[in-house]
Amino acid sequence: MGKLIEIRDLSKVYERGKQKVEVLHHIDLDVDEGEFLALMGPSGSGKTTLLNLIGGLDKPSGGSISVGGQRIDELGAGPLAKWRAAKVGFVFQFYNLMPMLSAQRNVELPLLLTKLSASERRKRAGIALQLVGLGDRATHKPAELSGGQQQRVSIARAIVSDPALLVCDEPTGDLDRQSAEGVLALLRTLNRDHGKTILMVTHDPKAAGYADHTLHLDKGTLVEPVVAA
Ligand code: ADP
Ligand code: MG
Repeated sequence: MGKLIEIRDLSKVYERGKQKVEVLHHIDLDVDEGEFLALMGPSGSGKTTLLNLIGGLDKPSGGSISVGGQRIDELGAGPLAKWRAAKVGFVFQFYNLMPMLSAQRNVELPLLLTKLSASERRKRAGIALQLVGLGDRATHKPAELSGGQQQRVSIARAIVSDPALLVCDEPTGDLDRQSAEGVLALLRTLNRDHGKTILMVTHDPKAAGYADHTLHLDKGTLVEPVVAA
């Protein structure tokens, strides 16, 4: 299996007025195609910053990020947005669904950027909702769904364009244990049966247990966990 992500000497500096804060320090990271990787670390250690850089939501201050052979750090804003829409699905802690739209319409949103016809968009969103087990909730609005169901709608939205990479930032951070397990089992199915490469930030060691491998970020530096031989 090939590498999907290759990160070299990555750094990120935020400027607050005259003050510069280096949030990520010289990070190297390789992620294989088809890997399910968990990322843990204290609050403020740079986990969200790293995910957003890998997903092309933000630009690095130094170093390189290659995803699927594309140097995304070298893309301008327009091409980067296009790349992101085609190649990455995002799942956030608080779902980020549009409250006035049905589950079906929320899942169709990323497809509005494509040339697909309305009927094809409807069909693909329907398939994605079925895949997350919510085929019978298509007409419900977010407020009519539980937290776990809303997160599964957001996962349907993340996969509707069939991206190779899913980037999940504390996807179970706001869920009860049972809903969290449903979401994690779904992510594992998407990884094992649908070949999605998954990067997941979590504070929960049990959630990390669903991944193949866990890395830790500490004050902007990646550290391998110490594993007993
Ligand atoms: P984590 O997700 O691990 O909690 P973040 O990546 O969100 O950490 O943040 C890492 C550090 O970067 C924090 O100190 C945070 O305050 C700072 N930071 C994050 N985003 C910005 C920003 N847009 N501008 C300035 N500082 C930021
Ligand atoms: Mg965060």
